[in-house]
This record gives sequence, C-alpha cells and structure tokens, in this order.
Amino acid sequence: MEKDILVGSHVSMSGPKYYLGSIQEALSYGANVLMIYTGAPQNSTRTPLEKCKIDEGILLARENNMVIDKFICHAPYIINLANPDSEKQKFSQDILINEVKRTAGFKIKYLVLHPGLHVGIGEEAGLTNIINGLKVVLDATKDEDVIICIETMAGKGSELGISFEQVNQIIEGCNNSEKLGVCLDTCHINDAGYDVSNIDEVISKFDSIIGLNRLKAIHLNDSKNLRGARKDRHENIGFGTIGFDTLIKYVYDERLKGIPKILETPYFNKKPPYKDEIEMIKEKKFNKDLFKNY
Ligand SMILES: [Zn+2]
Repeated sequence: MEKDILVGSHVSMSGPKYYLGSIQEALSYGANVLMIYTGAPQNSTRTPLEKCKIDEGILLARENNMVIDKFICHAPYIINLANPDSEKQKFSQDILINEVKRTAGFKIKYLVLHPGLHVGIGEEAGLTNIINGLKVVLDATKDEDVIICIETMAGKGSELGISFEQVNQIIEGCNNSEKLGVCLDTCHINDAGYDVSNIDEVISKFDSIIGLNRLKAIHLNDSKNLRGARKDRHENIGFGTIGFDTLIKYVYDERLKGIPKILETPYFNKKPPYKDEIEMIKEKKFNKDLFKNY
C-alpha cells in the first residue's frame, strides 16, 4: 500500500491475548490501521488495562510498520448523551469518561462516538443534551490526548448526527473544542440521504459545513439499502448500493489521504471478509466472486 493510504478494519480485543491479539488479527488482514472496542460494545464491563497486553501489541504493530497514531477506538453503543433521564445521562457521561481514559491507556488518539438518540424529546432537545453531556466529558478528560470523533449517523429511529449540519451544531455547541473530530461513515451518509457517488460534493459540503480538518476517520462500508432509506445496514465492499468504484475513490482521494479507512462490513458465512476486501482495495479491482469459497 502507498504509505499514506491507511486501510484496516474493526478487530476484536478479547482474552487471552487482548490487544496483542488485535494487532495480530489486523496484520493477518494486511491492514496498516485498525479499530477496536476496549470491551464489549453493548456493556460497560472492562478488563483492567494492565491485563490487556498493550505494550506487547504496540511493539508488534511497530515492528510491522503499522500506523499506530491513526488507530481508532469505538465507544460502546449503550452511551446515549441525548437521553432526557438525568440518571441515564449521568451514566452515559461516566462510561464515556472512562472510555476516553481507556483509549488513552491504549495510546490511541481517536475515539469514535455515536452522538445519541433523542428517544422522543425531539431533535433540538436531544442535541442540547448531547452538547451538555459532551462538555462535562471534555472537561473531565481535558488532560487526556484523545479526540472524540462524532460519527455521522444513518437516521434510524431517533438517531441524531444525521446531517453535517447537526454534527457541526454539536461541535459549535462545545465551543469548537479542539478535542472533537468527526468520523464519516459511507453507509450511514448514504442511508441519511447523501449522494455518496458524488465525492466532490460530499467533501465540499463537509468542508464548508464542518471543516475537513475535523475529519479524523472514515468508516468504509457499502450499504444494503438505497440512498435515504435511514436503515443502517452495512454491506460488503462492492456488493451493496454504493458500489466498489465509488468506495475506492474515498480510499485514494488526495484530500482524504492520511485519514484511516476502517471496514465494518459483515462477516460472510461467519468468516471475516477483511483480508479479501483489503486486497481488493489495494489492487483497486472488484472481485464479484470474492465469497465463492467462503
Ligand atoms: Zn459507529
């Protein structure tokens, strides 16, 4: 891969090898970056950092020239900073504060966050709660070298962050904190209504509304659904409605170089597709028979 083309996938981070196992998994896919959850995404049970084999993982990543400073953590889904219930809001803040600290513990700089669901209180009230919650979290973690990256969402249910305007509203509400970035998910923006095939328009809208300097990660996924469907169902690269030729543009576009592209595509017959998908991306050539032998 060209040096500033950064491609990897979500990899597991679980015992007994923990982070060392994550790095080994990513290397087996031919990736030079990766994304982990620091524990199960659906709960807040966490293995203590000292058991996670972090130094061993970093050493192995270094030996293999992985681009460690572009690695990504993903916050658990249970966080909902938009929740109107003050107890649940506090619970979400506490988990996120802990996740920021864990991300720093893994020596990872970027933590991707789903901004939240308004659960019926309306978009504006939900966005206000997110802003207030994020301010608490940013204040409690100001000494950590971690950037919280707000993810662009598909618009399923009462999701917020479904337009560049909403994402920008959150960032502005937090006084344009330097500790906030954005993760753009190609499947999500397609499902939210953006024309992903028009990369120039996507980039210029992003730049004029949010600022391209805030873009820290790209989730590179195809979509099972048509533009605007508000569904959020990821598809394998080239096998969905976005298509290979469009997705490959996001990997190689000059303006997006140096930004890690992370695959969160579905397993095929319970097998991870990432090695083969990354190979297609490196070769810039779609293989419609990719899953024939899975
Ligand atoms: Zn996500």
